[in-house]
Amino acid sequence: MRILEIREQSVPLQSNIRNSVVDFSQMTCSVIAIITDVIREGKPVIGYGFNSIGRYAVSSTLRDRVIPRIMQADPESILDSSGENLDPFKIWDIMMKNEKQGGNGDRAHAVGAIDMAVWDAVAKIEGVPLWKLLSDRFNNGQYDDQVFTYAAGGYYYPGKGLEALKYEMKSYLDRGYTAVKIKIGGATLDEDLKRIEAVMEVMGSGNNVAVDANGRFDLEKALAYGKAISPYNLMWYEEAGDPLDYQLNATLSEHYTGPMATGENLFSLQEARNLIRYGGMRPDRDFLQFDCGLGYGLVEYLCILDMLEMHGWSRRRCIPHGGHQMCLNIAAGLQIGGNECYPDVLKPFGGFADHIPVDNGNIRLPDIPGIGFEAKNDVYTVLKQVGVQ
Ligand code: MG
Repeated sequence: MRILEIREQSVPLQSNIRNSVVDFSQMTCSVIAIITDVIREGKPVIGYGFNSIGRYAVSSTLRDRVIPRIMQADPESILDSSGENLDPFKIWDIMMKNEKQGGNGDRAHAVGAIDMAVWDAVAKIEGVPLWKLLSDRFNNGQYDDQVFTYAAGGYYYPGKGLEALKYEMKSYLDRGYTAVKIKIGGATLDEDLKRIEAVMEVMGSGNNVAVDANGRFDLEKALAYGKAISPYNLMWYEEAGDPLDYQLNATLSEHYTGPMATGENLFSLQEARNLIRYGGMRPDRDFLQFDCGLGYGLVEYLCILDMLEMHGWSRRRCIPHGGHQMCLNIAAGLQIGGNECYPDVLKPFGGFADHIPVDNGNIRLPDIPGIGFEAKNDVYTVLKQVGVQ
Protein backbone atom coordinates (compact mmCIF):
# COMPACT_ATOMS: atom_id res chain seq x y z
CA MET A 1 0.00 0.00 0.00
CA ARG A 2 0.99 3.62 -0.44
CA ILE A 3 0.07 7.05 0.86
CA LEU A 4 -0.84 8.99 -2.27
CA GLU A 5 -1.16 12.41 -0.70
CA ILE A 6 -1.42 14.18 2.65
CA ARG A 7 -3.47 17.38 2.66
CA GLU A 8 -3.76 20.07 5.31
CA GLN A 9 -6.27 22.87 5.57
CA SER A 10 -6.78 25.55 8.22
CA VAL A 11 -10.42 25.72 9.31
CA PRO A 12 -12.04 28.38 11.54
CA LEU A 13 -13.76 27.29 14.75
CA GLN A 14 -16.24 30.18 14.80
CA SER A 15 -16.99 30.19 18.51
CA ASN A 16 -18.21 33.39 20.11
CA ILE A 17 -16.96 32.46 23.57
CA ARG A 18 -14.13 33.18 25.95
CA ASN A 19 -12.61 31.65 29.04
CA SER A 20 -10.55 33.61 31.56
CA VAL A 21 -7.60 33.88 29.15
CA VAL A 22 -8.59 33.24 25.55
CA ASP A 23 -11.15 34.62 23.10
CA PHE A 24 -12.06 31.78 20.73
CA SER A 25 -13.58 33.89 17.96
CA GLN A 26 -10.37 33.92 15.88
CA MET A 27 -9.40 30.32 16.52
CA THR A 28 -8.44 27.91 13.76
CA CYS A 29 -7.64 24.22 13.48
CA SER A 30 -5.56 22.17 11.01
CA VAL A 31 -7.56 19.45 9.29
CA ILE A 32 -5.65 16.54 7.76
CA ALA A 33 -6.59 14.05 5.05
CA ILE A 34 -4.25 11.13 4.34
CA ILE A 35 -5.28 9.66 1.01
CA THR A 36 -4.18 6.06 0.47
CA ASP A 37 -4.33 3.68 -2.47
CA VAL A 38 -6.20 1.10 -0.39
CA ILE A 39 -9.75 0.52 -1.59
CA ARG A 40 -12.55 -0.35 0.84
CA GLU A 41 -16.18 -0.59 -0.29
CA GLY A 42 -15.18 0.76 -3.69
CA LYS A 43 -13.49 3.92 -2.40
CA PRO A 44 -9.95 4.89 -1.40
CA VAL A 45 -9.35 4.81 2.33
CA ILE A 46 -8.79 8.35 3.66
CA GLY A 47 -7.58 8.89 7.21
CA TYR A 48 -8.81 12.12 8.79
CA GLY A 49 -7.45 14.06 11.73
CA PHE A 50 -7.14 17.50 13.29
CA ASN A 51 -5.01 19.10 15.95
CA SER A 52 -7.63 19.10 18.71
CA ILE A 53 -9.12 22.41 19.74
CA GLY A 54 -8.42 25.49 21.77
CA ARG A 55 -5.12 26.22 20.03
CA TYR A 56 -4.46 27.29 16.43
CA ALA A 57 -3.87 25.67 13.04
CA VAL A 58 -0.27 24.62 12.49
CA SER A 59 -0.17 24.82 8.71
CA SER A 60 3.44 25.84 8.16
CA THR A 61 4.90 23.18 10.46
CA LEU A 62 2.80 20.56 8.70
CA ARG A 63 3.41 21.75 5.14
CA ASP A 64 7.09 22.67 5.49
CA ARG A 65 8.38 19.89 7.71
CA VAL A 66 6.10 17.11 8.90
CA ILE A 67 4.19 16.17 5.74
CA PRO A 68 7.23 16.34 3.38
CA ARG A 69 9.19 14.01 5.68
CA ILE A 70 6.50 11.34 5.39
CA MET A 71 6.05 11.79 1.64
CA GLN A 72 9.80 11.68 1.01
CA ALA A 73 10.35 8.56 3.15
CA ASP A 74 10.83 5.16 1.51
CA PRO A 75 7.19 3.98 1.15
CA GLU A 76 8.11 0.59 2.62
CA SER A 77 9.57 2.22 5.72
CA ILE A 78 6.19 3.45 6.96
CA LEU A 79 4.38 0.10 6.67
CA ASP A 80 3.79 -2.53 9.34
CA SER A 81 5.26 -6.03 9.05
CA SER A 82 2.34 -7.23 6.88
CA GLY A 83 3.16 -4.54 4.32
CA GLU A 84 -0.56 -3.93 3.98
CA ASN A 85 -1.14 -1.23 6.54
CA LEU A 86 0.57 1.86 7.96
CA ASP A 87 2.70 1.66 11.08
CA PRO A 88 1.87 4.68 13.29
CA PHE A 89 5.07 4.24 15.33
CA LYS A 90 7.34 4.26 12.28
CA ILE A 91 5.52 7.29 10.88
CA TRP A 92 5.91 9.05 14.21
CA ASP A 93 9.68 8.54 14.14
CA ILE A 94 9.84 9.94 10.61
CA MET A 95 7.78 13.00 11.57
CA MET A 96 10.18 13.74 14.42
CA LYS A 97 13.36 13.28 12.42
CA ASN A 98 15.80 16.19 12.88
CA GLU A 99 13.62 17.73 15.61
CA LYS A 100 15.33 18.73 18.86
CA GLN A 101 14.10 17.65 22.27
CA GLY A 102 12.05 20.10 24.32
CA GLY A 103 10.22 23.19 23.11
CA ASN A 104 7.00 21.25 22.75
CA GLY A 105 4.82 23.97 21.33
CA ASP A 106 2.80 23.96 18.13
CA ARG A 107 4.96 21.17 16.71
CA ALA A 108 3.26 18.78 19.12
CA HIS A 109 -0.15 19.64 17.60
CA ALA A 110 1.17 19.10 14.08
CA VAL A 111 2.39 15.63 14.93
CA GLY A 112 -0.83 14.97 16.90
CA ALA A 113 -2.98 15.89 13.90
CA ILE A 114 -1.15 13.55 11.52
CA ASP A 115 -1.06 10.79 14.14
CA MET A 116 -4.86 11.02 14.48
CA ALA A 117 -5.31 10.69 10.71
CA VAL A 118 -2.87 7.77 10.60
CA TRP A 119 -4.80 5.83 13.27
CA ASP A 120 -8.07 6.58 11.46
CA ALA A 121 -6.57 5.13 8.27
CA VAL A 122 -5.08 2.11 10.06
CA ALA A 123 -8.42 1.18 11.66
CA LYS A 124 -10.29 1.74 8.37
CA ILE A 125 -7.86 -0.49 6.49
CA GLU A 126 -8.37 -3.18 9.15
CA GLY A 127 -12.11 -2.60 8.88
CA VAL A 128 -12.67 -2.06 12.61
CA PRO A 129 -13.56 0.85 14.87
CA LEU A 130 -10.44 2.43 16.38
CA TRP A 131 -11.55 1.63 19.95
CA LYS A 132 -11.66 -2.07 18.97
CA LEU A 133 -8.24 -1.93 17.32
CA LEU A 134 -6.74 -0.26 20.41
CA SER A 135 -8.40 -2.78 22.69
CA ASP A 136 -6.99 -5.70 20.69
CA ARG A 137 -3.49 -4.29 20.24
CA PHE A 138 -2.86 -2.68 23.60
CA ASN A 139 -5.48 -3.77 26.13
CA ASN A 140 -5.79 -7.57 25.86
CA GLY A 141 -9.08 -7.28 24.03
CA GLN A 142 -10.80 -5.48 26.88
CA TYR A 143 -12.79 -2.28 26.35
CA ASP A 144 -15.58 -0.21 27.87
CA ASP A 145 -18.80 -0.23 25.89
CA GLN A 146 -19.66 3.18 27.28
CA VAL A 147 -17.53 6.08 28.47
CA PHE A 148 -18.15 8.68 31.17
CA THR A 149 -18.45 12.15 29.72
CA TYR A 150 -19.36 15.56 31.05
CA ALA A 151 -20.60 18.77 29.52
CA ALA A 152 -17.89 21.42 29.34
CA GLY A 153 -19.44 24.85 29.00
CA GLY A 154 -20.14 27.75 31.31
CA TYR A 155 -18.07 30.12 29.21
CA TYR A 156 -18.25 33.87 29.55
CA TYR A 157 -20.41 35.37 26.82
CA PRO A 158 -21.05 39.09 26.44
CA GLY A 159 -24.09 39.90 28.57
CA LYS A 160 -24.58 36.38 29.91
CA GLY A 161 -26.08 36.41 33.40
CA LEU A 162 -26.80 33.77 36.02
CA GLU A 163 -30.18 32.83 34.55
CA ALA A 164 -28.60 32.13 31.17
CA LEU A 165 -25.90 30.07 32.87
CA LYS A 166 -28.52 28.01 34.73
CA TYR A 167 -30.50 27.56 31.54
CA GLU A 168 -27.38 26.24 29.82
CA MET A 169 -26.77 23.75 32.64
CA LYS A 170 -30.39 22.59 32.63
CA SER A 171 -30.09 21.94 28.93
CA TYR A 172 -27.15 19.61 29.59
CA LEU A 173 -29.20 17.66 32.12
CA ASP A 174 -31.99 17.43 29.57
CA ARG A 175 -29.51 15.98 27.08
CA GLY A 176 -28.40 13.15 29.37
CA TYR A 177 -25.33 14.66 31.06
CA THR A 178 -24.98 14.23 34.80
CA ALA A 179 -21.85 16.35 35.29
CA VAL A 180 -20.79 19.76 34.00
CA LYS A 181 -17.84 22.12 33.98
CA ILE A 182 -17.80 25.91 34.00
CA LYS A 183 -15.10 28.53 33.58
CA ILE A 184 -13.82 30.61 36.49
CA GLY A 185 -11.30 33.40 36.75
CA GLY A 186 -12.86 35.62 34.09
CA ALA A 187 -14.87 37.53 36.70
CA THR A 188 -14.27 38.53 40.33
CA LEU A 189 -14.10 35.82 42.97
CA ASP A 190 -17.45 36.93 44.39
CA GLU A 191 -19.08 36.82 40.96
CA ASP A 192 -17.58 33.41 40.24
CA LEU A 193 -18.84 32.03 43.56
CA LYS A 194 -22.34 33.18 42.61
CA ARG A 195 -21.96 31.45 39.26
CA ILE A 196 -20.81 28.21 40.91
CA GLU A 197 -23.67 28.32 43.41
CA ALA A 198 -26.17 28.92 40.63
CA VAL A 199 -24.86 25.88 38.76
CA MET A 200 -24.88 23.75 41.91
CA GLU A 201 -28.52 24.69 42.40
CA VAL A 202 -29.31 23.18 39.00
CA MET A 203 -27.07 20.13 39.45
CA GLY A 204 -28.22 19.38 43.01
CA SER A 205 -24.72 19.36 44.54
CA GLY A 206 -21.10 20.31 43.87
CA ASN A 207 -19.71 16.87 43.25
CA ASN A 208 -20.92 16.85 39.68
CA VAL A 209 -19.69 20.40 38.98
CA ALA A 210 -16.08 21.11 37.92
CA VAL A 211 -14.48 24.53 37.58
CA ASP A 212 -11.69 25.54 35.19
CA ALA A 213 -9.42 28.58 35.61
CA ASN A 214 -7.47 27.93 32.38
CA GLY A 215 -4.13 28.53 34.04
CA ARG A 216 -4.85 32.13 34.85
CA PHE A 217 -4.09 32.38 38.59
CA ASP A 218 -0.90 33.19 40.42
CA LEU A 219 -0.33 31.23 43.63
CA GLU A 220 -2.09 33.73 45.84
CA LYS A 221 -5.21 33.76 43.72
CA ALA A 222 -5.16 29.97 43.21
CA LEU A 223 -5.10 29.51 46.98
CA ALA A 224 -7.80 32.15 47.55
CA TYR A 225 -10.12 30.50 45.05
CA GLY A 226 -9.26 27.08 46.51
CA LYS A 227 -10.18 28.20 50.00
CA ALA A 228 -13.41 29.81 48.82
CA ILE A 229 -14.62 26.81 46.79
CA SER A 230 -13.54 24.10 49.27
CA PRO A 231 -16.92 23.89 51.01
CA TYR A 232 -18.63 23.13 47.68
CA ASN A 233 -16.92 19.69 47.35
CA LEU A 234 -16.60 20.17 43.61
CA MET A 235 -15.91 17.40 41.08
CA TRP A 236 -12.55 19.08 40.43
CA TYR A 237 -10.65 22.38 40.36
CA GLU A 238 -8.93 22.57 36.97
CA GLU A 239 -5.74 24.28 35.80
CA ALA A 240 -5.51 26.88 38.54
CA GLY A 241 -2.06 28.17 37.56
CA ASP A 242 0.24 28.14 34.57
CA PRO A 243 0.38 24.55 33.29
CA LEU A 244 4.18 24.48 33.56
CA ASP A 245 4.29 25.90 37.09
CA TYR A 246 4.59 22.59 38.89
CA GLN A 247 5.49 24.20 42.17
CA LEU A 248 2.33 26.29 42.17
CA ASN A 249 0.32 23.16 41.54
CA ALA A 250 2.15 21.25 44.27
CA THR A 251 1.62 24.04 46.80
CA LEU A 252 -2.05 24.26 45.91
CA SER A 253 -2.40 20.50 46.44
CA GLU A 254 -1.10 20.92 49.99
CA HIS A 255 -3.91 23.34 50.78
CA TYR A 256 -6.80 22.30 48.56
CA THR A 257 -7.95 18.86 49.64
CA GLY A 258 -10.59 18.35 46.96
CA PRO A 259 -9.79 16.80 43.55
CA MET A 260 -7.67 18.83 41.15
CA ALA A 261 -7.26 18.39 37.40
CA THR A 262 -4.70 19.55 34.87
CA GLY A 263 -2.60 18.43 31.91
CA GLU A 264 -4.36 19.66 28.76
CA ASN A 265 -1.52 22.09 28.08
CA LEU A 266 1.27 19.60 28.64
CA PHE A 267 2.25 18.21 25.27
CA SER A 268 4.86 15.53 25.80
CA LEU A 269 5.80 12.50 27.86
CA GLN A 270 8.46 14.53 29.63
CA GLU A 271 6.09 17.35 30.54
CA ALA A 272 3.58 14.82 31.83
CA ARG A 273 6.30 13.07 33.82
CA ASN A 274 7.37 16.36 35.35
CA LEU A 275 3.80 16.98 36.46
CA ILE A 276 3.73 13.58 38.14
CA ARG A 277 7.18 14.06 39.68
CA TYR A 278 6.90 17.66 40.81
CA GLY A 279 3.29 18.84 40.52
CA GLY A 280 1.90 17.35 43.70
CA MET A 281 -0.88 15.52 41.85
CA ARG A 282 -2.48 12.84 44.05
CA PRO A 283 -3.25 9.46 42.45
CA ASP A 284 -6.14 8.79 44.84
CA ARG A 285 -8.25 11.78 43.78
CA ASP A 286 -6.83 13.96 41.00
CA PHE A 287 -7.44 13.86 37.24
CA LEU A 288 -5.05 14.07 34.28
CA GLN A 289 -6.26 15.70 31.08
CA PHE A 290 -3.49 15.16 28.51
CA ASP A 291 -4.98 15.42 25.00
CA CYS A 292 -3.21 13.41 22.30
CA GLY A 293 -4.58 15.76 19.62
CA LEU A 294 -2.42 18.55 21.07
CA GLY A 295 0.47 16.45 22.33
CA TYR A 296 2.23 14.33 19.70
CA GLY A 297 -0.67 11.93 19.21
CA LEU A 298 -1.59 8.51 20.49
CA VAL A 299 1.96 7.17 20.03
CA GLU A 300 3.10 9.61 22.73
CA TYR A 301 -0.03 9.06 24.81
CA LEU A 302 0.69 5.34 25.04
CA CYS A 303 4.09 6.22 26.52
CA ILE A 304 2.37 8.56 28.98
CA LEU A 305 0.03 5.77 30.11
CA ASP A 306 3.07 3.49 30.69
CA MET A 307 4.79 6.24 32.65
CA LEU A 308 1.71 6.74 34.82
CA GLU A 309 1.55 3.04 35.58
CA MET A 310 5.22 3.09 36.63
CA HIS A 311 4.38 5.89 39.06
CA GLY A 312 1.46 3.98 40.57
CA TRP A 313 -1.32 5.84 38.80
CA SER A 314 -4.45 4.12 37.52
CA ARG A 315 -5.25 5.08 33.93
CA ARG A 316 -8.81 5.62 35.19
CA ARG A 317 -7.57 8.96 36.53
CA CYS A 318 -7.17 10.14 32.91
CA ILE A 319 -10.06 12.13 31.45
CA PRO A 320 -8.64 13.84 28.35
CA HIS A 321 -9.33 17.39 27.26
CA GLY A 322 -10.76 18.15 23.86
CA GLY A 323 -14.19 16.58 23.62
CA HIS A 324 -13.30 14.90 20.34
CA GLN A 325 -13.79 11.40 18.99
CA MET A 326 -10.11 10.41 18.97
CA CYS A 327 -9.82 10.64 22.75
CA LEU A 328 -13.23 8.98 23.04
CA ASN A 329 -11.88 5.94 21.17
CA ILE A 330 -8.88 5.89 23.48
CA ALA A 331 -11.14 6.12 26.52
CA ALA A 332 -13.20 3.11 25.42
CA GLY A 333 -10.44 0.94 23.95
CA LEU A 334 -7.81 1.56 26.61
CA GLN A 335 -10.29 1.87 29.49
CA ILE A 336 -9.23 5.22 30.85
CA GLY A 337 -11.50 7.35 33.04
CA GLY A 338 -13.68 9.20 30.57
CA ASN A 339 -13.69 12.01 28.04
CA GLU A 340 -14.67 15.66 27.94
CA CYS A 341 -17.51 16.89 25.72
CA TYR A 342 -18.41 20.35 24.43
CA PRO A 343 -22.09 19.96 23.56
CA ASP A 344 -22.62 23.49 22.28
CA VAL A 345 -19.27 25.07 21.47
CA LEU A 346 -16.10 24.55 19.44
CA LYS A 347 -18.04 23.15 16.53
CA PRO A 348 -17.68 21.13 14.45
CA PHE A 349 -14.83 19.28 16.15
CA GLY A 350 -16.41 18.88 19.58
CA GLY A 351 -19.03 16.20 20.17
CA PHE A 352 -19.69 12.61 19.21
CA ALA A 353 -21.77 10.49 16.83
CA ASP A 354 -25.08 12.09 15.81
CA HIS A 355 -27.24 9.03 16.37
CA ILE A 356 -25.94 8.16 19.86
CA PRO A 357 -27.28 10.34 22.68
CA VAL A 358 -25.56 10.72 26.04
CA ASP A 359 -27.33 8.45 28.49
CA ASN A 360 -27.06 9.00 32.25
CA GLY A 361 -23.65 10.66 31.84
CA ASN A 362 -22.24 8.00 29.53
CA ILE A 363 -21.68 7.83 25.78
CA ARG A 364 -21.40 4.80 23.50
CA LEU A 365 -19.32 4.66 20.34
CA PRO A 366 -20.43 3.89 16.81
CA ASP A 367 -19.51 0.52 15.36
CA ILE A 368 -17.99 1.76 12.10
CA PRO A 369 -14.38 1.50 10.87
CA GLY A 370 -11.95 4.18 12.01
CA ILE A 371 -12.40 6.97 14.52
CA GLY A 372 -16.06 7.39 13.62
CA PHE A 373 -16.05 10.84 11.98
CA GLU A 374 -18.43 9.57 9.30
CA ALA A 375 -21.11 9.22 12.01
CA LYS A 376 -20.89 12.90 12.92
CA ASN A 377 -22.23 14.95 10.06
CA ASP A 378 -20.92 18.43 10.89
CA VAL A 379 -17.32 17.33 11.34
CA TYR A 380 -17.42 14.91 8.41
CA THR A 381 -18.73 17.66 6.13
CA VAL A 382 -15.57 19.67 6.89
CA LEU A 383 -13.18 16.71 6.75
CA LYS A 384 -14.40 15.32 3.46
CA GLN A 385 -13.96 18.70 1.76
CA VAL A 386 -10.25 18.40 2.53
CA GLY A 387 -10.13 14.81 1.32
CA VAL A 388 -12.32 15.25 -1.76
CA GLN A 389 -10.94 13.42 -4.80
MG1 MG B 1 -9.47 23.17 30.70
